[in-house]
Amino acid sequence: MSRFWSQAVHGLTPYVPGEQPRIAGLIKLNTNECPYAPSLRVLQAIRDAAGEELRLYPDPEATQLREAIAAHHGLQPEQVFVGNGSDEVLAHAFMALFRQQLPLLMPDISYSFYPVYARLYGIQARSVALDEQLRVQVSDYLEAGPNGGIVLANPNAPTGTALPLQDIERLLQGNPDSAVLIDEAYVDFGAHSAVELIDRHPQLLVVRTLSKARALAGLRVGYALGQAELIEGLVRVKDSFNSYPLDRLALAGAVAAMHDDTWFAHTRARIVASREQLSGHLRQLGFEVLPSAANFVFARHPRLDAAELAAQLREQRILVRHFRRPERIAQFLRISIGTETQCEALVNALRSIVQADPVGLGE
Ligand SMILES: *Cc1c(COP(=O)(O)O)cnc(C)c1O
Repeated sequence: MSRFWSQAVHGLTPYVPGEQPRIAGLIKLNTNECPYAPSLRVLQAIRDAAGEELRLYPDPEATQLREAIAAHHGLQPEQVFVGNGSDEVLAHAFMALFRQQLPLLMPDISYSFYPVYARLYGIQARSVALDEQLRVQVSDYLEAGPNGGIVLANPNAPTGTALPLQDIERLLQGNPDSAVLIDEAYVDFGAHSAVELIDRHPQLLVVRTLSKARALAGLRVGYALGQAELIEGLVRVKDSFNSYPLDRLALAGAVAAMHDDTWFAHTRARIVASREQLSGHLRQLGFEVLPSAANFVFARHPRLDAAELAAQLREQRILVRHFRRPERIAQFLRISIGTETQCEALVNALRSIVQADPVGLGE
């Protein structure tokens, strides 16, 4: 603490990201990164961009990248906003769309950055409880009374559960007067994207990232899609904050990533196959595994304590994510899908823990 801090800084509760420890031979399944290397075309494009031109500022409008993203989604470049990771895109969207008189609605269990942004911008937020199966029920949002916006992750995090497109459409139809942000960080692993609804719904903003399904968490590129007027609001915030959020290397790498459909299709399929196999193995070990449409699974064991399990895995150099709060999910572990070999090592480690403790830990 410092007496030089502003009042606003005293009131912040910053997001705590998953650990990035430097431990040799670590199996890192705690932050939903892609376990495979990015496309070679991306790496080549970054090398080509790492030249004399770095002395010049990058394109403040990221024109080429926005064109590549627009082409990929069948939209116009004016319908695309890009930022330094989707976290930054989300922050700008909160500022641009959700600072309203009425409260912002969000699930009680979702990406924990949402309440952090709400606090940063003085946005009043109201959480709407997930149902018994930890699923979003659209009718709960439609019945929650007037709102200043709605934010949902689809698939949701950390549960991995996805909403069908009809539910998103029902939400938009029933909520025409405030912005609806659908965070599709994990959509490529099995959920139906809401992008096709953009033309019919001016309040819809879809947010995407290259961190997960494109294996570029280290490059920091995310984007938003929506009708041009909505996007213009985000551009106004961005140009009041940082004109050059994406550097030349990130722009070059991201353009190449959007063009490499072969790598993308192959990697997604591989991760989805591993997820299905891992879910099966976990169920055989007695875990309850929520149906996942993401690159992670959310699972609990009926008699083994989650914090204890995470600690025991850590001793075997396997890192998974455990959230102590909220209480409802304190017995779950969120496990990112690793390579086939990493998933196998995880299952073997869990098998030995489960078999060593047939009656349950601390019971
Ligand atoms: C990982 C994640 C993000 C952030 O992605 P970046 O583009 O790396 O900032 C956003 N939303 C959700 C739900 C995520 O899980």
